[in-house]
Amino acid sequence: MKLVLIGAPAAGKGTQAARLVEHYGIAHISTGDMLREEVAKGTELGLQAKEIMAAGGLVSDELIIAIVKERIQKDDCKNGFILDGFPRTVVQAEKLDEMVSLDKVVYINAPDAVMLERLTARQICPNCGASYNKIFLPPKKAGICDQCGTALTQRKDDTEEAGLKRLRTFHEQSEPLVDFYTKKGILFEVDGTAAIDAITQEIIKGLDA
Ligand code: AMP
Repeated sequence: MKLVLIGAPAAGKGTQAARLVEHYGIAHISTGDMLREEVAKGTELGLQAKEIMAAGGLVSDELIIAIVKERIQKDDCKNGFILDGFPRTVVQAEKLDEMVSLDKVVYINAPDAVMLERLTARQICPNCGASYNKIFLPPKKAGICDQCGTALTQRKDDTEEAGLKRLRTFHEQSEPLVDFYTKKGILFEVDGTAAIDAITQEIIKGLDA
């Protein structure tokens, strides 16, 4: 199964992707995670992406397309994959079309105010990548990862200022993808304000239909 998850920042793409990869036994490809790894390692690519990401902009189509092209050829993608955070522009979607035939695209939709509230309360584990939310999905012990005991941190782009910019970027550059994939007849929408479990069930129902 080859899937794409579309949604504004903090719509729950990463959370749902983690559940879907377990359910379907397919690979999780998060371009945001891949870029953050490059930033942490201080590679040339990371240096190029760092400022753009912190400011809530998009790295170049060319760069991200090259990364994804290489990634989907890896062994763990043989059974399929979920793309989380790619494509984010119509140019990226057109290039992806040339690379693979997608089965479905899931659009997790929620109002900006909800996204902004969620993203400023988000905490991530710098060690294992687990994601929490001080309001909606708190760790058992405040500020500590349930899975590996590491102190949680906030993403540099999860501030209100960068969050607003990311929401604007989403509406301008990524929202046209909803139309793009609707015309192809492979998109379905779920309500991103529902409970996490309910959204997972809704997505699985849509995918298995
Ligand atoms: P995410 O973790 O998906 O919210 O991505 C974090 C940041 O990485 C985004 O705000 C962008 O700066 C960058 N990024 C991730 N995926 C892409 C993409 N497909 N195209 C351009 N920039 C991206």
